[in-house]
Amino acid sequence: MTIGGGVLFKEIFDPLYNAGKELQTGACPCVSVLGPTLGGGLARYEGLHGLITDSLLEAKVLTGRGDIVTASRTENADLFWGLQGAGFQFGVVLEAVYEIYDLTNNGNIVNADYLFEPTDNETLYQQMKEISTAIPAELSLLSLIYYDKTRNSVRHWRQFPISSTNYQQTMIMLNAVYAGSLEKSNELLKPFLDIGYIQSNVSETQWNIMPYLAGFSAQGPLCEKDKVRSLFSVGLKEVNVPNMVSIFNQFYDFHKQYPDAWQSTYELGIYGPQAVQKIPDDATAYPHRDINLHTLPSFQWEDRSIDEPVNVFGKKIRDQTAEYSGFEKLRLYVNYGHGDEDPESLYGAHKLPKLRELKKKYDPNGLFSHFNPF
Ligand SMILES: Cc1cc2nc3c(=O)[nH]c(=O)nc-3n(C[C@H](O)[C@H](O)[C@H](O)COP(=O)(O)OP(=O)(O)OC[C@H]3O[C@@H](n4cnc5c(N)ncnc54)[C@H](O)[C@@H]3O)c2cc1C
Repeated sequence: MTIGGGVLFKEIFDPLYNAGKELQTGACPCVSVLGPTLGGGLARYEGLHGLITDSLLEAKVLTGRGDIVTASRTENADLFWGLQGAGFQFGVVLEAVYEIYDLTNNGNIVNADYLFEPTDNETLYQQMKEISTAIPAELSLLSLIYYDKTRNSVRHWRQFPISSTNYQQTMIMLNAVYAGSLEKSNELLKPFLDIGYIQSNVSETQWNIMPYLAGFSAQGPLCEKDKVRSLFSVGLKEVNVPNMVSIFNQFYDFHKQYPDAWQSTYELGIYGPQAVQKIPDDATAYPHRDINLHTLPSFQWEDRSIDEPVNVFGKKIRDQTAEYSGFEKLRLYVNYGHGDEDPESLYGAHKLPKLRELKKKYDPNGLFSHFNPF
């Protein structure tokens, strides 16, 4: 598949599906294909096909030197290596070629969303911990702490398909996407179903439609433009259940104290590691193949007078989660960076010397240093 530098995921779902093909893609249709690719690219189906960047075959790049070069494993291979994890540091990718794959299970998938009582968060995180050690490649799971309420009486994702409820409190939901049968999906998810959910939306659907349905159609508000957002992500080796319960309780209090920030959420995502970890660490600039789960606290608010307390809270839960991450120091996916993390935590200390050499070679004047510079 050959695409231009600004193509969005939503523009490739149908053409690929109609051709009987698929690509591991990001969770939201509004994001570009190259944005995630150049940072690594976390994706449903990464258990099957690796990170999004692992499917990149070739890129045409306008470099910081002002020339246009082709990069692949055989041509300008040093630049190609750097594109796969720190790609936005060297220039603009004008065009990219990807390996694509035959549709898994003929493109038939299960999208299953479950809403749980807030008091069940500990049991849910316990099950997340257990499944994270042996998650099948065909399954991906995202849990989300969020505040459930309707907005301006308009039908909204917090309502969808929950049309008659408005819990007005912090809740927790689980989204599961499984590239297989409903029967097998139910079998895999049984430990979660046994917790006892209060709402569900389960459908057998197609690969190209799933991103619009997943998480009770969560992509809608996440894709809204012109919002103040702040991320405080941490990569995890394992789930520390007491830490997650503490985070849930703090979010509960935070939502109460700052109602203006009610759209702030906390995501914990697990994708199968199989195809990601099959690729050697030194094959690409992406440094985090051993991160098994990604947390993504995403704060959203409008009243700018609460900027400080929101960011103080975000940093507090980032520090706390890093302490229980299973890694010695903070590590996180560069595209989920807040902007104040040190380059080692984003790019890996072992990758930085080579990345800095590449920077000197392809962007000597630092034209492309606006995003998480090193
Ligand atoms: C709703 C939402 C969902 C997300 N889900 C995922 C996910 O599932 N997986 C994941 O890995 N990430 C995800 N992200 C994070 C995403 O990877 C980053 O936000 C990324 O920077 C978005 O790229 P963009 O091109 O869409 O955005 P833009 O704001 O247009 O670009 C952001 C930056 O990306 C770089 N960039 C983009 N295109 C090019 C190019 N052609 N050449 C050079 N540099 C380029 C530039 O530095 C640019 O400033 C998500 C983000 C959002 C907002």
